[in-house]
Amino acid sequence: MEATRNMRSMEDFVTDEATPPTAPGEDEHPALALANSAPALTGGHTADLLSTPVQAERWLARRELAPPDAGLAEVCASRLRSLREQVRSLLASQVAGQTPPPAAVAAINDAMTRVPTAPLLLWDEETGPCRVAPHPVTAIVEHALAVIAADAADLLTSPDAARLTACASPPCNRFLLKHGRRQWCSTRCGDRARAARAYARRTATD
Ligand SMILES: [Zn+2]
Repeated sequence: MEATRNMRSMEDFVTDEATPPTAPGEDEHPALALANSAPALTGGHTADLLSTPVQAERWLARRELAPPDAGLAEVCASRLRSLREQVRSLLASQVAGQTPPPAAVAAINDAMTRVPTAPLLLWDEETGPCRVAPHPVTAIVEHALAVIAADAADLLTSPDAARLTACASPPCNRFLLKHGRRQWCSTRCGDRARAARAYARRTATD
């Protein structure tokens, strides 16, 4: 028990130290947040925020896509990571102005239609008709995947799609919604890009 707690606090430490703050657009779009959940760090490392069931559970709970004690299994975390690859593929195609791979589109449609997301009509013996969210506890992950997939579809078909871009500060692999001319996901990435440009100018003059 004690060991589990220590492990969790170690994960918190690693995550907080390593990952940049939320990129613009992530708060409105869980699909963008999912796409950015394995940020590339300097030095060739990647911080996967969904690498364990505990991390995946915390990631979903923070976005109110699952209750905090959902009890996710590795297979659930793995399905989230799979959807992430498909969403990244879709977003990258959008940014590049290309048609996405059919498998990515199919994965989104599959996740959206696997579970009903509309509250179903039920009849209560005493109060009569009511609408009830249909997902049982066992379908928590399916429901979260459906919400994220629907958000990806909304993002790509809304005016926000024109603001979607990839962070312009290597090695960052995050996506963001542009505000004005800003083309990096965080001040950390902006500072690194400016430093790299200054260094390139200096070495060119030398
Ligand atoms: Zn960045």
